[in-house]
Amino acid sequence: MDNKVKVGVIGATGMVGQNYLRLLANHPWFEVVYLAASPNSAGKKYSEAVAGRWHMKTDLPDKYKNIIVEDAGQVEKAVGKCSVIFSAVEMDKQSILTTEAEYSRQGFAVISNNSAHRNTEDVPVMIPEINPEHLDIIPLQQKKHGWSKGFLVVKPNCSIQSYMIPLYALMKAGYKIDKMIVTTLQALSGAGYPGPAAIDLVDNIIPYIGGEEEKSEVEPRKIFGKVQNGKIVPDESMKISAHCNRVAVTDGHTACCSIEFAGKKPEMNEIIDIWRNFSSLPQELKLPTAPIPAMIYRDEPDRPQPQKDRDAGNGQAITVGRLRKCNVFDYRFIGLHHNTVRGAAGGAILTAELLKAKGYIK
Ligand code: NAP
Repeated sequence: MDNKVKVGVIGATGMVGQNYLRLLANHPWFEVVYLAASPNSAGKKYSEAVAGRWHMKTDLPDKYKNIIVEDAGQVEKAVGKCSVIFSAVEMDKQSILTTEAEYSRQGFAVISNNSAHRNTEDVPVMIPEINPEHLDIIPLQQKKHGWSKGFLVVKPNCSIQSYMIPLYALMKAGYKIDKMIVTTLQALSGAGYPGPAAIDLVDNIIPYIGGEEEKSEVEPRKIFGKVQNGKIVPDESMKISAHCNRVAVTDGHTACCSIEFAGKKPEMNEIIDIWRNFSSLPQELKLPTAPIPAMIYRDEPDRPQPQKDRDAGNGQAITVGRLRKCNVFDYRFIGLHHNTVRGAAGGAILTAELLKAKGYIK
């Protein structure tokens, strides 16, 4: 443990926070030593704070049970205990903006799951396989805010991972994508606990998730953008139209995508080759939780499925399938990923591993 980087989780009692504790329990580089949540949980042992609401399929690891939960708003309580903060608090946007910036000001590397800072021009929105060079903005961010060693990076909305990596793989191979229509079928765990009422979910689909379609259309532009003059300039060239639906699946977001290329178009077998052979910096650096392969293409006509494919690569891999011609655009396919792993805590842990490998976390 002495050689491990000491980390804290704020929002530790929630759905994403619990996933952090589960995924970090035996992590080779990081040790969770600090837990914080709302004032309601503050002062309790962690086991008491989550009594009756531990939602993971594996038991609460013993080592967290007696840690006293702090109030996430009292930033000074974390000072001297850890150097990295994973943020999974659910608060109003202004409180998140202020609280996360305060952790950065006080010297913490902050990796956030919240949407509050995703539009902040000097804050990278990270999918480690796609935009590792966006981390180059960190020294500029620190200089601008006068933060000596703290900084802030965020991860994107949990619904977009299943198609961003497939799209990026094609772009990296030299094929420019002009437009995409995507329909997502999003799992219940994405809404936190308890989520929508059971009576609204059984025998039903809810065709609205507040703010999700806008995030799905805007965040990819920033992730595909470039660092220029101290800010991340979005790539506005791809047009996306998103329909986001909540469905009665526990974990695993599915995305049905139709894409049209600008200019030259790959053949179908070439696309599958590109996806099957895709690898990026997290795989090359052999980061502890980087899935190898990053992306799995399934030939079966009825895959991917949440129950069967969400745990691929320990929940960090993207599964794609059903690539076929589209009668309106060029091609269509289905993507799937585990929303609370790759789409939330796991994606942030992979980002932290990349930050450590690049020397931003010591
Ligand atoms: P959640 O289950 O509702 O948990 C919310 C957490 O925030 C709890 O630990 C809660 O503590 C804490 N909290 C609430 N009010 C607070 C306050 N005033 N001060 C400090 N802490 C406070 O939510 P979640 O699903 O884990 O989501 C957490 C964040 O991650 C959200 O911003 C969400 O949008 C984002 N996110 C979620 C997912 C997903 O798949 N669920 C994916 C990507 C991103 P108490 O237990 O003490 O109330």
